[in-house]
This record gives sequence, C-alpha cells and structure tokens, in this order.
Amino acid sequence: MQKRFDAVCKISDRRTEGTEPQGSKVLEFFAADVFDNEKMAKHLPKSTYKKLMATLNGMQPLDPGIADEVATAMKEWAVSRGATHYTHWFQPLTGGTAEKHDSFLEFSQGKAIFEFSGKTLTVGEPDASSFPSGGLRSTFEARGYTAWDPTSPAFIKRHSNGATLCIPTIFCSYTGEVLDKKTPLLRSTQALKKAVVRLMKCFGQEEEPVRVTLGAEQEYFLVDKKFYLQRPDLLQTGRTLYGAPPAKHQQLEDHYFGSIPSRILAFMTDVENELWSLGIPAKTRHNEVAPAQFELAPIFEELNLAVDHNMLIMEVLRQVADRHGLVCLLHEKPFAGINGSGKHNNWAISYGKRNLLDPGSNPQENAVFLTVLTSIIHALDSHSDLLRAATAGLGNDHRLGANEAPPAIISTFLGEQLEEVIDQLVDGASAAKSKKAATLRIGVDALPTLKRDATDRNRTSPFAFTGNKFEFRAPGSSQSCAEVNMVLNTIVAEAMDLLSDQLEKLPAAKFNTGLQEILKKEISAHRRVIFNGDGYTKEWLKEAARRGLPNLPSTLEAIQPLKAKENQTLLEKYGVLSKVEMDSRYQVFREEYERRLDIEGKIALEIAKSIIRPVAVKELVALGDAKVCASVESFRKEFAADVDALSKDIAALEKALAKAQGIIPAMDALRKDVDALETIVDDKVWPMPKYREMLFIC
Ligand code: ADP
Ligand code: MG
Repeated sequence: MQKRFDAVCKISDRRTEGTEPQGSKVLEFFAADVFDNEKMAKHLPKSTYKKLMATLNGMQPLDPGIADEVATAMKEWAVSRGATHYTHWFQPLTGGTAEKHDSFLEFSQGKAIFEFSGKTLTVGEPDASSFPSGGLRSTFEARGYTAWDPTSPAFIKRHSNGATLCIPTIFCSYTGEVLDKKTPLLRSTQALKKAVVRLMKCFGQEEEPVRVTLGAEQEYFLVDKKFYLQRPDLLQTGRTLYGAPPAKHQQLEDHYFGSIPSRILAFMTDVENELWSLGIPAKTRHNEVAPAQFELAPIFEELNLAVDHNMLIMEVLRQVADRHGLVCLLHEKPFAGINGSGKHNNWAISYGKRNLLDPGSNPQENAVFLTVLTSIIHALDSHSDLLRAATAGLGNDHRLGANEAPPAIISTFLGEQLEEVIDQLVDGASAAKSKKAATLRIGVDALPTLKRDATDRNRTSPFAFTGNKFEFRAPGSSQSCAEVNMVLNTIVAEAMDLLSDQLEKLPAAKFNTGLQEILKKEISAHRRVIFNGDGYTKEWLKEAARRGLPNLPSTLEAIQPLKAKENQTLLEKYGVLSKVEMDSRYQVFREEYERRLDIEGKIALEIAKSIIRPVAVKELVALGDAKVCASVESFRKEFAADVDALSKDIAALEKALAKAQGIIPAMDALRKDVDALETIVDDKVWPMPKYREMLFIC
C-alpha cells in the first residue's frame, strides 16, 4: 500500500538528525525558566522575599500587601525571558491541565505598557461551565475561580516564537466547591503532615518540617507520525482498536534496557533539555519491555511539585515528539498483546532530614520506621478500595490484571527480610520462618540491615516496599498522580491518628512495651493485605477472595467506593473532599468513562465500515467466482465467511452503541474479524499501518 510505504522511506531519511550535544551547559540553564527561590531573592525586596518564604514554608498565609510587588517582579523576569502573556495553569477533573492566556498588555495614558497586578497573579475568574463538575455547578453560575498556589513556582512555557508565564493555581466553583485535582491533594498533604507531627510527638520528637515526596516514573510509546496519521483509532482514542499480532513482538525480551535508537535518543535529549530548563530533574531514560516503549524517571521531589512536574513531563513528551515527526502515546494500552504503560508512584515521607520509610540504624529509629510501616499497612487494608478507585479509567482497565501490570486487587509486598521482621514482631519466637526465631523487642533491638536491592524483585505487586519508599504501580501512564496521592495521604493520616490515639495514652515508662503490643495487634489485624507471592496467578485471585480483599477489575466497579459512606466520611473528616464533592467526582469519572467508551465504539465502527470492509469486499470480488483451482475456491469461501462475520459484527456494534450496552464485547468481536482479515488480505492493499511496522520502524 503506497501510503504505508511512503512513511517507511521518509523515516530512514530522518535517522541522521540529532541535536548538538549540551554537556555541562545543562547546569547553566537548569531551571532557567522557573521563577524559583533564587530568582525571587534576586528580583524582590528583602522584606517581601522573607514574607513570601514564610508563606511557602507553610508558616503564614499569603500577605495580600506583597502581592503587587511579587507580581511585578515576576512579570519583569518573565518579560526578560521573552514572555508576552500569562496564564493561570490548573488541573481540572479532565485529568489534563488547562490554561487561558492573557497578554500583559494594558494602556496607560494612551500608551501601550506591560502590566501584571497582584490581583491578577493571585486570583483568576475563568468561565467554568465547560469543565467537568459532576453537577456541582450549573451554567447560570458558571464562574470558576483560580487561586495561586505559591508552593509550586511560576514557570515559562516556550513555543517557537514566544513564551507564556504560567502560574500554578487551584480551581474551584463560585460557591467554593473543588473542581480540580490540586486542591484536595494540597489538603491531604496538610492532613498527613499534621498526623506525622502528632505521631512523632508520641516518640518525644521535636517538631520538624514534614515532606511528602514523590518520584513518578513515566512510561510511554513512540510511533512515527506518518503511521499515526493513517490510524483513525490512534488519532481519536490514543490506542489501536485493531491490529493483528506481529510475528515478533516482545517475546525475545530484547527491547528492555536495549541500546536506544539514535532517532529516539535525539528526541529524549530534546525532552530532557526542555525539562531541565523547567527545573524538572529528569534523571533516568531507558527502553521499556514492549517494542517502541520507553521510560523517563525524574529525581523525586516534594509531592505537589512532583505532581505538577509530571503533568509537564507528559506535555513536553507530546510536544517534542511532534517536532521529531513522532507521536508520544501516553495511553495505558496502545497496542493489544504487548505490555501497556504505567506510572510508578514512588512515595515516601520525610521528617526533618530523615526519611521515615528508611529503617534507620538504631532501635529508636527502627521503632519509628515500624510504626510508620504499620500505619501504612493499616491504611492499605482499610481503604484499598479507595486507592483502586483513584486508578480507575477506561485505559487502565486494559492494563490492570493483564499479567504485565499489577492485578486490580490491592496488596502490599514487603520483601522477605521485612516479612521476617514482622513475623518476629507478631509471632515472636514461635515464628517458624524466622531464622533466628527470636522475638523482636521494639525500641530495644536493632533491625537487621535491610538490603535495598533485595526488596525490589517482585514486579507483580501493586504496592511494593522498595527499601526506603513505597512504589504504587497501579496508576496508568496517562493519569495524573494527584488522585492516588490524595487518597494515600488521607488514609495514612487516618491510620497514624488511630495509632497516636493509642500511643498518647501510654505512660512514658511503658512506652516501648505498649508500642510493641499495639503494633502486634495492628499488624495481626491487617496482615491479610501483605502478599509476597506472584500476583499474576489464579491462586492469588482465590486466596485474595478468601482473605476478603476487594477485587475491582473494571472502572464502573472500581469507582463505586467513591460513593461509600465510610469513605466519604473519611475524606470529609480530613477536610480533603466533602460528600458533595465526592459524589461529583463519581459522576465525572463515570461520565468520562461512558463518553470515552462511546467514542471508542463509534470509531471502531467507522473504521470497520468505511475503511476495512470496502477493501475486503473489493478483494473478495476480485477473486471472482471462477473455480481456478480447489485451493482458491476454498480460500474464497474462507474469505467470504470472514467478510460475512465482519458485516454481522458491524451490525451488532451498531446496536450496542445505540443502546449504550455491551459495547466492549461487541468491539472485541469486531476486532477479531478485522484482525483475521488483516492476515489474509493482500498486504499491498491493507489500508492501515500494521503492528510490525508501527512498533519496529523508527
Ligand atoms: P525502579 O525502576 O527500579 O523502580 P527508578 O530509578 O526508575 O527505579 O525510579 C525510582 C524513583 O523513585 C525515582 O523517581 C526516584 O527519585 C524515586 N525515589 C527515590 N527515593 C524516593 C523517596 N524517598 N521518595 C519518593 N521517591 C523516591
Ligand atoms: Mg523504573
């Protein structure tokens, strides 16, 4: 087929293109496009800077008196970097980011000037009527508010002939209801920080700054843009709805960590340069398991910033890909039959300089570590349904539980060594597994040094302890990290508070023995959520059911917990989301799922009807009905039967779409027909790029 062939030729022409090496210049432009502390100190009067810092460190609300000065300094810096416009940059419930640009242009005595006031910096009033709100806001009160989040620095986004100052903001309705992903995330972080300080007080520790940290590993696919443009399914849904499995896909396991093709490396270099100027600490790049699949991991940062940065990483990946004649697919499952993409959410809490998920080196530190660990186990067991809900989405349904990503059942993997520690703690000397068969006395005995690498072998666990952090592997590659971390923070805050309730009652002299009893009781009660085995096996499904762990494989089931009374009460108690806001989210996620599914069904139908069937029928007719020989006759029959099946399943999908029922099985059936035809129709006339081309030519 001519179009497919064209694409192949052009690609080889581009192979030699690349970017000039940057080397140590990187250090000069790192964060050049961010109005960070250093630049604020330079551009602001000392007293203003001091006040702003107090706000950033969470000690004081923003002093409205300094807003004008900050705005002017920010504008001057931005203009000096080429910006002409500004925007409040926010994260509506679409899961993406939103921006509405205004120029700095104003008139003063008939003269054009650039101006940016404190009021425009701190508050915006975009029309909110076209953002999803789940019924929270009717069009007659469509006003929405964006408010500056000074904890995430303003930055500049560039395009080829200009730049825009972006101000990270929260987004809420006229009546104050949350319409975004950032607000509840910030609230949940506050709640967790408070709970950590309270818990640490039980251990007699001075108050120190708490930091919740996140390192989000981003997986993605790259395909040549020419192929992409010939695939209406990719264009409209981000995934292929058809495609016969190629002879070679990932079975040779030769892509993972393989040498990176030069065209891809040129792309990655450009991505990293952009990210570095945005102050995003991109660190790791490598080939992933599936062909044409790659990963980017930044160095971890404070949670709110890391979430913003991940949103920007996704945007930069898409935009730079476009410039390189590539398309970056962030969908969770762009290609059937090979691995999909996730976003591993590495999460930890630090207190002062100490990572609380680091076991530490003395009995006192170990006691804190085991208490924090216990609170996480408690949280996970009590609210795994909420955590699952936060990863729900049509794309992720193809991934979770598909023997490549963790199952939809949330459990935690602690590793052999930590499991042994827990055995010693709970079962004491009677623990058969324990090599030393001793009882671990909290606050007295030191833990054996845990080997970090030894804990990271189990790739099937959704929530794995990896030495000094937890890695949540269920989030999908296209999803914002805000939702899962909002849940994680809140459920851990609750679990910590429940522990503090008990610890605060202990007399000082009996603290260690009392703590030992409490942890023993807690772990025994919640141990069912710990699972160190292979999460892909059928036995685990059975075992998880026996343990009573929820298994919510599809989105419509997975979002139900958003409506559960105890979950709504919990989020309300911690001031993260009200019941009304939870209901609205349920509504938004449900509608989004239904709309996406409808789009997938419609485009699947259109492709089958107007692209595949005409080609197939033409080929069939061209065979004629003359009996050339027995094998042609039998091939013709097979072909005709496939075309008939295609027509039958086209009609079935049409019906399913009209009723909005049974769309998924109808699409699956149609896919079988199309993929079968792909294997028999003359390769020269097949109208869409095939898997073996899209996945291997770049
Ligand atoms: P792997 O693929 O083995 O899981 P990577 O190096 O790809 O490891 O990613 C690990 C991620 O975890 C990185 O983003 C890293 O910065 C992050 N990380 C390390 N320590 C912490 C921490 N204390 N808190 C949050 N994230 C962390
Ligand atoms: Mg990784």
